[in-house]
Amino acid sequence: MNSITSLVNAQRAFFHTGQTKPISFRIDALKRLGSAIRKHEGHLTRALREDLGKSEFEAYTSEIGIVLHEIRFVLKHIRSWARPQKVKTPLTHFGSASRIYAEPYGVALLIAPWNFPFQLAVAPLIGAVAAGNCAIVKPSELTPRTSEALELVLREAFDERHVAVLQGGVDTAQALLRERMDYVFFTGSVSVGKLVMEAASRHLTPVTLELGGKSPCIVHDDASLRLAAKRIAWGKFMNAGQTCIAPDYVYVQRTVKERFLELLKDAIRELYGQSVCESGAFTRIVSERHFARLQSFLTDGDTFVGGAANRDRLLIEPTVLTGVTWEDGVMRDEIFGPILPVLEYDDITDVIGEVSRREKPLALYLFSDSKEVRQQVLDGISFGGGCVNDTVYHFTTPYLPFGGVGTSGIGAYHGKGSFDTFSHRKSVLVQTNAFDIPLRYPNLKDGLRRI
Ligand code: NAD
Repeated sequence: MNSITSLVNAQRAFFHTGQTKPISFRIDALKRLGSAIRKHEGHLTRALREDLGKSEFEAYTSEIGIVLHEIRFVLKHIRSWARPQKVKTPLTHFGSASRIYAEPYGVALLIAPWNFPFQLAVAPLIGAVAAGNCAIVKPSELTPRTSEALELVLREAFDERHVAVLQGGVDTAQALLRERMDYVFFTGSVSVGKLVMEAASRHLTPVTLELGGKSPCIVHDDASLRLAAKRIAWGKFMNAGQTCIAPDYVYVQRTVKERFLELLKDAIRELYGQSVCESGAFTRIVSERHFARLQSFLTDGDTFVGGAANRDRLLIEPTVLTGVTWEDGVMRDEIFGPILPVLEYDDITDVIGEVSRREKPLALYLFSDSKEVRQQVLDGISFGGGCVNDTVYHFTTPYLPFGGVGTSGIGAYHGKGSFDTFSHRKSVLVQTNAFDIPLRYPNLKDGLRRI
């Protein structure tokens, strides 16, 4: 028996002891996780800087702080979420009562990507633990320092039979997927998401797939352009655009295009300074392969802002491209880097048609003050989630379940959404023995009979 099989067996045996089920156990585990994160905050921040050049500010706001906030939120609500939910019973079932019990699945496998290597591993783990599961976390091999720091935190907080970390790349992920898991939660690319679902299907294991795609950002002529420019620059260029819900491209109404572009240029300078290659505070591109892929887009269309790249330091300036068409390389797949193509439109219905013809986006952002335009876009385009008059912010509220639709993903999490994702809803009807309504039985039509 290999070590992965032994680990899964050990976790399943632990799960079957029932120890993970009491709410007090889950609360203690989450508190230990919070304490271990706070204790190793400095270590995590340094690891994120070494792996991705993330600034301390970004490391806290988009990785560490967000996870601590999620733990606090879950601790506040876990008792009410875990309580059996009473539901109505129809008249035909008179005498009985109905309840839905939230039940943990068992052993959950969590596979994480590199772009927010701490947060995207730990946020689903919080849901898995809160719901009473055991979990095996497979972090990304592309951010080794952060994956090590994550392992340190999790080893300190959990018994390995409850939560374990397994480092490794594709082979490790595939070996884990060959095991019979009770739940698989995957965050990563669409192509790997399909392989994960295929592997899970062999055991009929339920999955959540948090994937990606091209997320549009629409700027209508009645938008507050200055705010739109600032919020788009922030959402696009944080983490050097390596964010699954970053605005992938902007569609701006032709009448305000020139003004919007000037404001966008100002916003980029205001947020990131004149030269990110010099500032030392801009996240770098994760690998040479991704750098080369992104660099090839820099010659598409016309460069309006930025365009400089430093191969030695894997840095690419915040770049805005104009004159781009859907035939250009930069428009074919998710960009996942600090390059923002700006397209133009005359009529909002053209944008709705163009976006709807393509794969359903993970996120969509609309900047408009018109209720009618909002309604048209919300009714006309299917997408995972998004914002009106902002970017990315929907991700950071625990009250909005986060997830994709179509090729951008299956399922959702965050807040109660995470608890629900990792819980089977067990529906139970409790029948009365005080009487027996005979209507359902064949050949017994003598009305209500006492037994
Ligand atoms: P990826 O799919 O290459 O890798 C993700 C994880 O899967 C890693 O842990 C990796 O080791 C593993 N993996 C890679 N190949 C595998 C295979 N053949 N079989 C099994 N496992 C395999 O993704 P990435 O490059 O790390 O992340 C970027 C992608 O993730 C982007 O498309 C982005 O949009 C998406 N993403 C989505 C979300 C979301 O919440 N929806 C968040 C972040 C990133």
